[in-house]
Amino acid sequence: MIVTDLHLHTKFSSDGISEMADMIASARNKGLKTICFTEHMDYDTNFPDGTFVVDTDAYLKRYHELVADGYAIKDGANLRPDRNRDLQPADSHAIKDGANLRQDRGRDLRTADGHAVRKGTSPSENEEIPDLEVLFGVELGLQPQLVPFSREYAASYPFDFIIGSSHVVKKQDPAFSAYFERFSTEKEALMAYFEEELLCAQKFDEFDVYGHLDYAARYAPSGKDVFSYRKYADVLEEILKTLIDKGKGIEINTGGFRKSIHRSNPHPDILKRYRELGGEIITVGSDAHRVEDVAADFARAEKILREGGFTHYTLFRQRKPFFIEL
Ligand SMILES: [Zn+2]
Ligand SMILES: [Zn+2]
Repeated sequence: MIVTDLHLHTKFSSDGISEMADMIASARNKGLKTICFTEHMDYDTNFPDGTFVVDTDAYLKRYHELVADGYAIKDGANLRPDRNRDLQPADSHAIKDGANLRQDRGRDLRTADGHAVRKGTSPSENEEIPDLEVLFGVELGLQPQLVPFSREYAASYPFDFIIGSSHVVKKQDPAFSAYFERFSTEKEALMAYFEEELLCAQKFDEFDVYGHLDYAARYAPSGKDVFSYRKYADVLEEILKTLIDKGKGIEINTGGFRKSIHRSNPHPDILKRYRELGGEIITVGSDAHRVEDVAADFARAEKILREGGFTHYTLFRQRKPFFIEL
């Protein structure tokens, strides 16, 4: 069972409807061990002023309050990699080191899967203290002109995890038909979307995983799934290689199961190809905007990852990856 949901929105996002405390309660009920809030920060768009721009100070304050009130714990720091150890994602030893780290630190406060255990004795002999680790993240909208903004923003807050997402291309969101109307075919529209992602993948450093890589495919006006890996192979290969070279991951986002496209984003073929090319960093996110959708369709995600050749998935603490066995 996948026990981390690293893509969640609350009322701090313009399109979120649930309170942070309620999302935490839902995650706990569903047996998750770690979650990360990733509110929307889409700067410089055509949306009405302030839409999708999270009030990050208020968001961070509420997060700290919840942790202080005991709604959740934030002691994943116990699993922080030794500063002297190279755990950079680009390092091919990352998984091995991560696995060692988990075993080594199992006798400390927490085991790999986030169970808190009493210090000094082995986890198996202990009564587990059920709790939930809650991390502080953001879903940062990437657009080529925002590189300086993203640097400053990412450095200004103590983010555990940053999803970089393309929600707009030339300030237009594919979720709205106006985006597709600029192109003569859906294929062209999707190609333009991927080309923009390639540019962003090349230009940006301030993100840990690229969010829902084929997001635009969710919204093709025909209502059909216009995606096939072969059709877009050239640009997708470049995107995936760029991400791998830079030590960046991608996510499997289960939000698409709740849309008419009814599949994960990205398509399983993209996930599989990322793995074949040597990619190891996969986070799992429901993209829930309300309590009901926390960890939605995670059994499906697990199956897709296994079939794609993955043996681990990833969580981030203080922008460092940790690997969990599937
Ligand atoms: Zn998104
Ligand atoms: Zn999202």
